[in-house]
Amino acid sequence: MGVILTEEQLREKLKYWVKILRLQDWIIEVKIARGKDMLENASACVNWTLSKKMASIKVLDPIDYPDDVMGERDMENDLVHELLHLHLAPINDYFNNNNDFYNTFEEQAIESITSGLIAVVRK
Ligand SMILES: [Zn+2]
Repeated sequence: MGVILTEEQLREKLKYWVKILRLQDWIIEVKIARGKDMLENASACVNWTLSKKMASIKVLDPIDYPDDVMGERDMENDLVHELLHLHLAPINDYFNNNNDFYNTFEEQAIESITSGLIAVVRK
C-alpha cells in the first residue's frame, strides 16, 4: 500500500521528522519534483550545504512514477531516507561522494533505519 502526499503534507511530515531525528539546527525545504529534474530512477534526492546546514529535498512527483511501482511508493519513507542522509553528510562530504564502498554502506544503513522507524511510528 503506497503513501502519496501533497507538497503541503510533505511539509507537515518534515516538521514532524525534523524533531524526531533532531535535525532542528538545519534549514530544510522539501519539494515535489518532476522526473526530468531528478537523477534517473531516483524517487527522491537531497542536496546540502554543510557549512550553512541548509538542505533541499526533492521527492518525485507521482505522475512520473513508473506504472509498476505506483502502489509501492511511499513518500514519507522517501522523506525520512533523505533526512537521514543529513546526519551522515560530514562523512559523505569527506569522501566527496566518490567512494562506492562507502556510498553502498550509507544507502543500506539508511534503508534499514528508515524502514525500522516507519514501522515503529505506524504500529
Ligand atoms: Zn539515499
